[in-house]
Amino acid sequence: MSKFSERLAVFFDERIFDHDTDHGFFDGNASPYLPVAERHPENAERVRNMHGILANGPIKDHIDWHDAPVASEAAMGLFHDDAYLKELAALAADRKHWCTSTTPFGPGSYDAVRVSAGLAVGAAEHVWLGKGKIAYALCRPPGHHAQPARTDGYCFVNNIGVAIEVLRAKGLRRAAVIDWDVHHGNGTQAGFYADPDILTISMHMDHGAWGDSHPQTGAADEVGIDAGKGANLNIPLPYGSGDSAHLRAFDEIITPAVQAFRPQVLVVAAGQDANQFDPNGRQNVTMAGFHGLGLRARKLAAELTDGKLVLVQEGGYSISYAAYCLHATLEGVLGLRSSLDDPIAFLPDHTHGLEAALREILETRRSVLEL
Ligand SMILES: [Zn+2]
Repeated sequence: MSKFSERLAVFFDERIFDHDTDHGFFDGNASPYLPVAERHPENAERVRNMHGILANGPIKDHIDWHDAPVASEAAMGLFHDDAYLKELAALAADRKHWCTSTTPFGPGSYDAVRVSAGLAVGAAEHVWLGKGKIAYALCRPPGHHAQPARTDGYCFVNNIGVAIEVLRAKGLRRAAVIDWDVHHGNGTQAGFYADPDILTISMHMDHGAWGDSHPQTGAADEVGIDAGKGANLNIPLPYGSGDSAHLRAFDEIITPAVQAFRPQVLVVAAGQDANQFDPNGRQNVTMAGFHGLGLRARKLAAELTDGKLVLVQEGGYSISYAAYCLHATLEGVLGLRSSLDDPIAFLPDHTHGLEAALREILETRRSVLEL
């Protein structure tokens, strides 16, 4: 049983709450027609609940809490262009600034961004340096949309990209990223698109490109380029996909890809916005589905990376349910049974069209790789 860890190192720092995304009409400016402005979806409260359920919930006794140094400019510069980081730093003292039409940046944001990236680096180093097998960075703002020179989708610095590059400077050669956030992990894809040593996998709803900040489509034909051809795997699932679709895609597409790649460490971009009540997602994953994803990540790590597994928080915007789904995920990751009742699971788990959708993803990928 030595390969299996039932301890979880959680990296957390309250300064991530200083990134104030304010209120408005969903994730933009307030509507002149509506008397009540709502919280921006990527707000501190969602992560306060995630922290709360880990600190007080059934897995609390499995957790060791850690902090980490803020990410240095040099570390962030391993993934990002220097000019882009300078622009971001120059905004630091500014008042609220919209980096994209949905992505605000305020006076506390730059420090929170560096703290967030530092937590991901801390979690990755913890595992890579053998201090523990499983680590999770409870961080915000999220990172997986941030490209080397571009802000996108609430993300400024690619926390996972920076963490992987820091590990590479310490001897890491091969890593696999499994991104099960409901949105395409386009920033991580972009950063490693020509890189044969980092396998980037994203399973997401089939939302396509969404404008200048997100030109990547997330389609199955984006397979990587040059030496990196084949080392990017996109799994765009149909809208309404639930537990069965996500778990089958993991078993039938993700697992064989990671097994063939043989990474030294497994990194999960752990969003919970594929949950059935997420304001930013149109998928139907329940706590049971997230528990299944966590179990599968653990199994893959046990088989391939001597148990080395790093999880980094991404999206997940349902203020209560995302926290429950995170808890279920981490129980799976720890090899524990799911112990909390799902407060609101009731949607049917339709599977019609699933066979065809999975087949099409694999056939598209195969035809592009054969070109
Ligand atoms: Zn997302």
